[in-house]
Amino acid sequence: MRRILVTGANKGIGLALVEAILAQHADSFVYLGARDAGRGRAAAALLGKTAGYAERLEVVELDVADDTSVARARQRVGESARGEALYGLVNNAGIGGWSESLAAVLETNTLGVRRVCEAFSALLEPSRGRIVNVTSASGPTFVAACSPEWQRFFLDERLTWQRLRGFLEQCLAAGDAAALAARGLADGSAYGLSKACANAYTAIVAREQPGLVVNACTPGFIATDMTRPYAESEGKAPAALGMKTPAEGAKAPLHLLFGVVQGSGHYYGSDAKRSPLDRYRAPGSPEYTGAP
Ligand code: NAP
Repeated sequence: MRRILVTGANKGIGLALVEAILAQHADSFVYLGARDAGRGRAAAALLGKTAGYAERLEVVELDVADDTSVARARQRVGESARGEALYGLVNNAGIGGWSESLAAVLETNTLGVRRVCEAFSALLEPSRGRIVNVTSASGPTFVAACSPEWQRFFLDERLTWQRLRGFLEQCLAAGDAAALAARGLADGSAYGLSKACANAYTAIVAREQPGLVVNACTPGFIATDMTRPYAESEGKAPAALGMKTPAEGAKAPLHLLFGVVQGSGHYYGSDAKRSPLDRYRAPGSPEYTGAP
């Protein structure tokens, strides 16, 4: 069995990814991560209606923003797997609402990814385990609008977690979007910053764990609870705004989990092709082949 943990999997893209894994990979066992156990169980009950899914599925309570919750989840998965290694870890949990504070967004979208990687990477199969970080095209778009100095920072192939962590602390001390923008960090968007940092962190883990295949991707522009308020504010149906379904959003993460993937530490577009870290590449346009 290939054991895979997906965080934030009780709804949206995470839930669609769990469903796709169960449907397409009969040799898989999925740990459905949910910060609220009740919401996790409700999602699992829905999936369990399909024959053959319930016995390959286990809900794991996991709040990526909480050290204790992550430690408990690690213990639970370790015990459940009874010495078997994990094949995959998908860091999908994320928040993006405009009402969220910079601290909350960084805690979940960047520090949460690091917290879960640190806790679970030792459980991954050392020579073929995969980590997929669901980030966003907001990351490269953010970097594109930064000053040249900050662009060099995000692209630096020698960037360490210590330096990235120090940078995040500086951002938190700066306080708000206007203060970040004044320092040359694009428009200071908390979400864009958090995803640019999650992409940079992906490259760091790949360097730290050369035996693993570690990559990030955007799912694309997907109709979920995260994007629904935007569609509502525009007074349009999600499809009319170009939003795709959660199942379509699961395609790039699925490719990075199971497909033939060259290299590690890279960022992919929603078409499952590599993309640069410092500018947007539209799906369907030529794949990026440069460094980093
Ligand atoms: P969603 O429907 O709002 O789902 C987000 C999931 O993350 C939910 O299960 C949520 O749990 C969970 N979550 C939030 N904070 C968490 C925490 N601290 N610990 C554990 N789980 C937590 O959003 P989505 O669109 O599917 O987003 C999934 C990922 O795709 C996110 O990383 C997002 O940034 C990324 N993304 C989405 C789009 C898009 O167009 N939708 C585009 C680019 C990137 P609750 O139900 O408990 O809130």
